Amino acid sequence: MPSFIRIQDLADILIMTFLLYQLYSWFRRTRAMQVLLGLGVVTLIYFVTRFLGLYMTSWILQELGTVLIILVIVVFQAEIRQTLYRFSLMRNFFNPRETEQHSKFQEIAETLFRLAEKRTGAILVFQRGESLADLMLNGVHLDCEITPQILETVFAGNTPLHDGAVLIRGERIALAACHLPLSTSPDVPQHYGTRHRAALGLSERSDAIAVVVSEERGEVLLAESGEFQLVGSPGELVAALEDGIRPAGEMPRPNVQRKFFSNLAPKAVLLIIVTAFWVLITSRQGQITTISAPVRFHSVPDGLVVLKSHPEEIELQLKSFSSLASAPAKLDIVANIDLSGAHDGQTVVRVKNSAFSLPSGLVISSVTPSSIKVVTEKRVRKKVPVRVSLRGRLPASLEGYVVVAEPASVDVEGPAGQIARVESVATEDLDADQLVRGNEYRKNLLLQSDKVVLVRDEAVVLKLVSRKGKR
Ligand code: ATP
Ligand code: MG
Repeated sequence: MPSFIRIQDLADILIMTFLLYQLYSWFRRTRAMQVLLGLGVVTLIYFVTRFLGLYMTSWILQELGTVLIILVIVVFQAEIRQTLYRFSLMRNFFNPRETEQHSKFQEIAETLFRLAEKRTGAILVFQRGESLADLMLNGVHLDCEITPQILETVFAGNTPLHDGAVLIRGERIALAACHLPLSTSPDVPQHYGTRHRAALGLSERSDAIAVVVSEERGEVLLAESGEFQLVGSPGELVAALEDGIRPAGEMPRPNVQRKFFSNLAPKAVLLIIVTAFWVLITSRQGQITTISAPVRFHSVPDGLVVLKSHPEEIELQLKSFSSLASAPAKLDIVANIDLSGAHDGQTVVRVKNSAFSLPSGLVISSVTPSSIKVVTEKRVRKKVPVRVSLRGRLPASLEGYVVVAEPASVDVEGPAGQIARVESVATEDLDADQLVRGNEYRKNLLLQSDKVVLVRDEAVVLKLVSRKGKR
C-alpha cells in the first residue's frame, strides 16, 4: 500500500461504495433508478464541461441542477422516505417483529393453495421490518385474526374486498383491498398481468414478502426483493415464510460470503466510480496555502487622510475545496478594507472575509491579524511659498539678478500635523553657473512626505529677474 493512502481513505471509499450499492440495489428496479442514472449522466457532463472551461454550459447545468434536485425530492418523496427508513438503524426498535406469526403459516399456506386450486386470484403481503404505509394505498382496515375462512371470504370473487392485496402484520390481517405499486421491470414475463406486477413492485421497494395466487394458472408465487419464486406445495411455502419472517432475536446469520460475491459487476463499477471521485475530490481538497494580501483602503471619509496602518499586509490562509479551483499562489489578492467608519485619530478596523474577493472553489480558513490599526488625521490645505534650490552661486556677470519661481506660492494638502510643519516647497536643483539671461527653466516641486500633495500638480517656471524688479 502506498504510504500516502491512509487506512481512513480506504474506509472512506469502501463505505461510500457500500452506501451507493445499497441505494442501487434498492432502486434498481424502480423508476427512480432511471432518473438517478439520468442525473448521474448530467452530473458527469457538468464536470466535463467545467473541466474544459465551457462556462455557459456548465453554468446552465449548475443552475439546472438545483432545480432538478428540488424536483426529484418532490416527485420521489415516497421513495426517499422509504430509503431513509431503511437506513435508520433504530427501525427494529419501533417495529419489533412479531413472534407468534409462525403458528399461522401452515393455515395460511393451505388456504392459499386451496384458492389456487379453485382459481381464485389473491395477493398476500407479509410485512417484515419496514413500514409499508407509503406503499399500500386505499386499503380497508380489518385488524382481525388470520383464519382460513376470512381469507377465503376476502378473496372470493364479487366481494367488495376481493380486489387488491391483503396485508398480514404479525398475527393479524391488518388491511384488505390495498393497491400496491406496480413493478416497471422489463424482465417480467408478458403473461404476468397487473397482479404479478403489483406483488413484484412492492417487493422491489420494501423488504416485505408478497405471495401471489394466480387466477389464470393456479400457481402460487413468492415475491421477495424483486424476484419471483414458484412455490410447489404448502410445505414449501411454510418453509419459505418461516425462513423469511423470523421473530426478533432469531435473526438469520446472513451469508456474508455469498452476499459479498454476488452482483460483482455493479459493485466493481461503483468502486471504480467512487475511487475516481475520491481522487478528484481529495487531490486538492483541504490543501492550505498561505498568501499575503496587501492592504488597500476604500471609502475613506471626506476630509480624512490615512497616516499609517499596521500591519500593511494581511496573511491569508486559503483552503481549496475542489480540485477544479485555481491555484491560490497564482492569484493576486488584496485586502480591500472599508474605512467608512473611521474617525480622526486611531481606529481599529476588523478585517472581514468580504474584504477579499476570491475565485470560486477557494475559502478563507484564517485571516491574521483579524483587525488592523489605522491612524487618520484631518485633511487640510495651506498656501506655502516656493523655494528655489540653486546649486552654486550666480556668476559675476549676473550680479544684480535673482532667480524667482512662478507661481511664487502653491497650495498643498495633507494631514493637519504634517501640513503645519511645511513652511515652503522646494524645487528641483538648478545649476547656477549654467543660467542664461532671458531663459526659462521648468522644474518640478519636491515634497517631503508622500502624505502631503500639491493641490494642482504642476511644475513651476524659474527665471532670472533683476533685483530691482525689472527685467
Ligand atoms: P392472474 O394470473 O391472476 O390473472 P395477472 O398478473 O394476470 O394475474 P390480472 O389478470 O391483471 O393479473 O389481475 C387483475 C387483478 O390483480 C385485479 O383484479 C386486482 O385484484 C389485482 N391487482 C391489479 N392491480 C393491483 C394493484 N396495483 N395492487 C393490488 N392488486 C392489484
Ligand atoms: Mg390475468
